[in-house]
Order: sequence, then structure tokens, then C-alpha cells
Amino acid sequence: MEILTDSPVAEIRIANGRAQGVALENGDEYSARVVVSNAAPGITFRDLIDARHLPETFLGELGRFRSKGSAFKINLAMEQPPRYRGFDPQVAGIELPAYAHIGPTTAYLERAFDEAKYGGYSSKPFISPITPSLIDDSLAPAGKHVVTLYGGVAPYDLEGTSWEAEKDRFVQIVLDTMEDFAPGFSDSIIAMDAMVPPDIERILNIPGGHELHGDCAVDQLFMMRPVPGYADYRSPIRNLYQCGASTHPGGAVSCVPGHNAAREILSDWRSRKPD
Ligand SMILES: Cc1cc2nc3c(=O)[nH]c(=O)nc-3n(C[C@H](O)[C@H](O)[C@H](O)COP(=O)(O)OP(=O)(O)OC[C@H]3O[C@@H](n4cnc5c(N)ncnc54)[C@H](O)[C@@H]3O)c2cc1C
Repeated sequence: MEILTDSPVAEIRIANGRAQGVALENGDEYSARVVVSNAAPGITFRDLIDARHLPETFLGELGRFRSKGSAFKINLAMEQPPRYRGFDPQVAGIELPAYAHIGPTTAYLERAFDEAKYGGYSSKPFISPITPSLIDDSLAPAGKHVVTLYGGVAPYDLEGTSWEAEKDRFVQIVLDTMEDFAPGFSDSIIAMDAMVPPDIERILNIPGGHELHGDCAVDQLFMMRPVPGYADYRSPIRNLYQCGASTHPGGAVSCVPGHNAAREILSDWRSRKPD
């Protein structure tokens, strides 16, 4: 088996209502009896397939799939791990936590969402800082650390302004919030890479930059993910399957969508002759 990386797909080739393979952006073509996509549905069904191959009702439902993200991620190289004001090693029984949550009260979380509800970003964001180098010292040079800050709320669309104009200010707000809870945090930064939803959209090719490919809300889960009628990893095109975060049970590094898709593909494979 050969695994190709850095090989963007330009088109899923379809004939007689059946997926036949893929064409890469570099012009290479691959024939296949089954095509399985973990790309976001906006990519699989809008960018890679000509609309004439898909039912209008399916495309209409897909158009209503909410996929605008509101999470930020900041990756940092640090001199030291965060040392939280509120963390007591005696009580916890460990020197430092590798995983923390900054969101001290439900009112704090509510206010963070309120600002986003009206087209802004949180002036007091909630943050999950993670320091994996406390557990795995191969992740950073001796004595140094890597920290990721994941949190919100940083909506894809900002009212009356843009992330180009606001990103530096928002990143400073996140760092100031860290400083409030872990004094000395900013002085310890060696290097930083910050992402808001338009960056996630660009880097991962997820329309809307939603880190889970789409909202995990009750109307977009279970038998409605990504759309009713096609929530079983199949698609309107025979031999084309979906296996990504936009299928049940949704995003996160669970591998469950891929596992379930493989089960359905094998079931179809065994119950009918391959085309
Ligand atoms: C910033 C961030 C932080 C996260 N933090 C966590 C976390 O802490 N814990 C957790 O459990 N989950 C986390 N997640 C969510 C988790 O990473 C995703 O839910 C999971 O990776 C989804 O896997 P997937 O294979 O379905 O899709 P993806 O990982 O999105 O993979 C889809 C792939 O398709 C590729 N692709 C798109 N278009 C094409 C094309 N035309 N040709 C070829 N390839 C293409 C993309 O480049 C991408 O690599 C995070 C996600 C993000 C973005």
C-alpha cells in the first residue's frame, strides 16, 4: 500500500452515478472501486464534485450545515511551563498540571459568549492551556516547554471589522488573560503561532474554519450529521463514502467516524458485487 501526503485532490471522478477514483491537482489520476473522504462536506461535495451529480435537496441541506468556527489556538514555545496562581501542588499531589481550564465561573463563560453573540470576540476568553512537555520531555529541548492555548470565543465573522485588523489585539487579550491566572506567562514566551478560524480554514481547508468541521448541535448530530438521509457514511453517489468529523459522532481525535465508515463499506462490499 502506498500513502500519498501533500497531494491535494482536485476532483472525485464520477461516471454513471458511481465514484470511479480521484484526480489530483498535479494531474495524476487514480482509479478506485471505493472513494472515502474525510474532508469537510463543503469540500467533498462542492469543490470536488460537479453539482450536476448531486440531488438538489442534498445540496440544499448541505448549504444549511453550520460550519463557522469560533475557537482559537495558540501554539507556544516556552522557557517555563505556566505556573497557575490558583494551583496548590499540596492539594493536587502533583507539582504542575499538564491540562488546565480557565473559565472560573459560569457567568465568566456566559460573558465570553455574549460578546461573540453580537459580532465581537471575548474580551475575557476562556482558555484550555495544555503543557504536553510536562508529560513527554521529547517535545521540547531540555528544560524548555511547549504550551497550546485552545479556547474561545473568536467567531469566524466579526461585525464591522476583520481578523486581519483584530488578530494581534485578540492574541494580546489571550496572553493577558493567561498572565492574570499564571503570572510571568508572557515573559516566558520564546515563539508563538496563533490561529483564528480563517487561519484554520486556510490551513486545513475547512470552509468556515470550524475545528470539528461543523457545529456539534442537536440538529447536526446523530442521524442528522451532516444531513438527514446521508448520516450513515454513505452519499448520494454510489461507492463514495464520508468518514470525517462531519459524520456521526462528530469531531475530536476519536477515530470513530472512520471506524464506522469502514464497517459500512465492508457491509456494502459483502452484500453486493463491487462495481
Ligand atoms: C486547532 C484545533 C484544535 C483541536 N483540538 C482538539 C483536541 O484538543 N482534542 C480533540 O480531540 N480534537 C481536537 N480538534 C479536533 C480534531 O482535530 C478534529 O475533529 C479531527 O482532526 C477531525 O479529523 P478528520 O480526519 O475528520 O478531519 P481533518 O483532521 O480536518 O482532516 C481532513 C483532511 O483533509 C484534507 N483535505 C482537505 N481538502 C483536501 C483535498 N482537496 N485534497 C486532499 N486533502 C484534503 C485536510 O488538509 C485535512 O488534513 C482540534 C482541531 C483543531 C483545528
